[in-house]
Amino acid sequence: MTRKIAFIGLGNMGAPMAGNLVKAGHEVYGFDLAAPARADAAARGVAVCDAVSEAIKGVEAVITMLPNGALVKKVWTEIADLVPTGTVVIDCSTIDVDSATAAHGLLTDKGCLTLDAPVSGGTGGAEAGTLTFMVGGAPEAQDVAQALLAPMAGRIVPCGGPGAGQAAKVCNNMLLGISMVGAAEAFVLGEKLGLDHQALFDVISTSSGQCWSVNTYCPVPGPVPTSPANAAYRPGFAASLMLKDLRLAQDAAQSRGAQTVLGADAVQLYDAFDKAGHGDIDFSGIIQFLRMQDNE
Ligand code: NAD
Repeated sequence: MTRKIAFIGLGNMGAPMAGNLVKAGHEVYGFDLAAPARADAAARGVAVCDAVSEAIKGVEAVITMLPNGALVKKVWTEIADLVPTGTVVIDCSTIDVDSATAAHGLLTDKGCLTLDAPVSGGTGGAEAGTLTFMVGGAPEAQDVAQALLAPMAGRIVPCGGPGAGQAAKVCNNMLLGISMVGAAEAFVLGEKLGLDHQALFDVISTSSGQCWSVNTYCPVPGPVPTSPANAAYRPGFAASLMLKDLRLAQDAAQSRGAQTVLGADAVQLYDAFDKAGHGDIDFSGIIQFLRMQDNE
């Protein structure tokens, strides 16, 4: 069934996601502040508009894909003044749990169906339409969202009520950041002990240390040919985005009183890595930074 959908935020993730909605036969109206993003989306068949207010006119659903929580609340406030009751509004950005919960409130007050639905899978998943969506919202909104998200999704995981999608995302990415540092430390120690990368991979990947950071995304070149380590740590998932997500996890931990000692350590390491000018390289490149910290 063809639907009219507005897509706000047509950047590295948003443009290909909107393009997949077009490919699925939907009428997609888009807006972005940046001219290159608008041009990219237009090339993918999105009807690009000059303002949020124009893009959301007459649509059944609005999707936002923006850099942070303050912008999501700003855009959702604008949307709240204009959309009719019953409109489905979904935020796919990665933002803090408290902003996500506040954004829900802005629109549920108007009788809209709202969801926070952050994604994992990166720009590759956005292009391929294989993103994993972690979805928070009321049950009736969860039901409606399945069909809307399907053309962009490999998996859609209902996580609970408003904010639960962002909560799941920060927990997952905090663990990912910690496990990548752990994987990198294991390989650096192995190097010092004279172990061959492949031999250590063959042991860890089939033993109790196995994890996604080793088995699928190994931080040294060789054992997993598709990992960014084999392509000079080109992202992939940029270290600056990992730092953003680790900080969101720390904010959430502080606001709820959770002890996340290793999460805090991971923030410090990725912050130093970013400040050293490596924010644009893949987050698995932290291994190079750890080698530089070594005492001979
Ligand atoms: P991006 O910076 O490429 O895109 C964001 C876009 O939002 C930009 O084009 C910007 O011009 C636009 N924008 C900002 N304010 C706006 C406004 N008021 N109105 C309209 N457009 C506005 O970022 P991205 O990589 O596409 O990431 C988007 C979100 O997805 C972020 O929250 C990010 O953390 C999350 N995310 C990114 C990845 C990734 O690999 N890039 C993976 C998972 C999640």
